[in-house]
Amino acid sequence: MTISMHGTGIDGSRPVAIGRAYLLNREPSPQPAPIAASQVAAELMRLDRALEGARLHLERVREQIPEGTPKHIAEFIDSHLMMMTDSALVDATRDVIREQSVNASYALQSQRDTLVAVFDQMEDAYLRTRRDDIDHVVRQIQQFLGAGPDRAPVVEIDVDGRVVVAEDLTPADTILLRQRGVAAFVVEHGGPMSHTAILARSLDIPAVMGLHRACERLHDGELLVVDAETGSVLTELEPGILEHYRARLAGFDAHRRELRRLVREPAVTLDGTPVLLLANLELPEDVTAARDNGAAGVGLYRTEFLYMNRDVLPDEEEHLENYLSIVRGLDGIPLTIRTLDLGADKQIPDTVFHPARTNPALGLRAIRLCLKEPGLFLPQLRAILRASAEGPIRLMIPMISCMSEVEAVLQLVSEARRQMRRDGLPFDPLMPIGGMIEVPAAALMAGALAKRLDFLSIGTNDLIQYTLAIDRVDDAVSYLYDPLHPSVIRLIKHVIDSAKATRTPVGMCGEMAGDARFTGLLLGLGLREFSMHPGSLLEVKDRVRRCDRRQMSQTLAPLLEHLEETPAEELLARLQP
Ligand code: PEP
Ligand code: MG
Repeated sequence: MTISMHGTGIDGSRPVAIGRAYLLNREPSPQPAPIAASQVAAELMRLDRALEGARLHLERVREQIPEGTPKHIAEFIDSHLMMMTDSALVDATRDVIREQSVNASYALQSQRDTLVAVFDQMEDAYLRTRRDDIDHVVRQIQQFLGAGPDRAPVVEIDVDGRVVVAEDLTPADTILLRQRGVAAFVVEHGGPMSHTAILARSLDIPAVMGLHRACERLHDGELLVVDAETGSVLTELEPGILEHYRARLAGFDAHRRELRRLVREPAVTLDGTPVLLLANLELPEDVTAARDNGAAGVGLYRTEFLYMNRDVLPDEEEHLENYLSIVRGLDGIPLTIRTLDLGADKQIPDTVFHPARTNPALGLRAIRLCLKEPGLFLPQLRAILRASAEGPIRLMIPMISCMSEVEAVLQLVSEARRQMRRDGLPFDPLMPIGGMIEVPAAALMAGALAKRLDFLSIGTNDLIQYTLAIDRVDDAVSYLYDPLHPSVIRLIKHVIDSAKATRTPVGMCGEMAGDARFTGLLLGLGLREFSMHPGSLLEVKDRVRRCDRRQMSQTLAPLLEHLEETPAEELLARLQP
């Protein structure tokens, strides 16, 4: 019978995937370490001590089972204890140590692989659980052998067409897995606005986050349906269910084909208001998707991925090359480059840089980190300026929380310009410099920021996190992450109104901008510039073209007075075309 489990869905334009599970191994496969013949006896003793330690540990666990606990729990532990003396596991491991002169951890692992391979041939669900028992037992013995907890490097695995199931995933892993053809993600931890989730969405990879104990409940190699629309993962699939999902996949593809007819159509509301629809880019290769989906420009290029999966910092030339490849690919449409936003959930290896960790979201992140570490920031600033000689570029500062940060950046930019003039390097002297509104403090002083900057862009992912005091990475509080919270709507309105008062362009580049359910509301609030992952552009354009902007504002005006009393569903329902 089909089994369904639930987490939080991260859906793009193709919110369903069907594929076999790939359990991202949390423990590294122990590597063979040759040992001298004279060490074999000591290694065998080490194995015996580990077996004894694991056995005593399990016996203690069994003794502590409270009275009245169902009998099968104790039996389950007994079966593990028996396995620890089973010759197929223990004697065979000893043989590997003797015959191959290798360390005990590796010998145990290779015997585990041999046994699991036998179980993998079997279709029977009960026998499959026995295979998992072997894994649990081996893991326990490995712990007593002192095997480390890190997982195998993502770069070495083959996940083409597979559903990667992991305890957690870093944004850096997500990128590597995408390059290796992953079909979907199922992750035990992480909120829907974590950068991993945003990446998955922007890469159009369906994902279910916050599915607790997924690594235990799902089995390597089994066929899964990932339904990111409902946040569910289905296993033990009945044929009817599989058929249903195959038909849904075909439906999504048909809808996407249907939307494609809008690519060259203008983004204009029914009553003639032009709307700027821009793309968010994570990687230079996303330029193709941005152009294919008719983006009028790039409203957010997240440059931190330039720093990931590597051991040395990029220098000015590498930044420049990266930006030039994008500017050239965009063929004259504008590119907004956001300066580095490292330090919260987008970390780089400690060997490269070591940001403060006590409370990363509130710590030395983004522009704070850049101003503290000019060695990190200046090569990027100079490269952005140099790239501006080749095409329309805007520079955007993340996480502004006070005016002094803006002043400091403007000063650094003037200094960089002065140096470049001196060195005869070309740049655009009028390159616009803007700031992201991601912190309530910045939203509340948007008027002052608008006077000092050339444009503003509302980063709702962080603005919601900081307004509602909800860690966007923590799935335990993701139920509180609410773009329609009255305070969030009021802050957005305040930013738009403040920017308009000084005729400063204002856009939105958080995930909210790419969610077509909110298009009517945002148009009603006065937003005219939306930046989103390329996969959402046509869906939002469709919505824009069916909305009457004036009517949206008129409907919204009285509702704004009663946001606390208006249920979110009603608000949204009244603001659909
Ligand atoms: C945001 O916070 O809304 C945003 C666009 O930036 P990021 O998601 O990269 O933090
Ligand atoms: Mg942000």
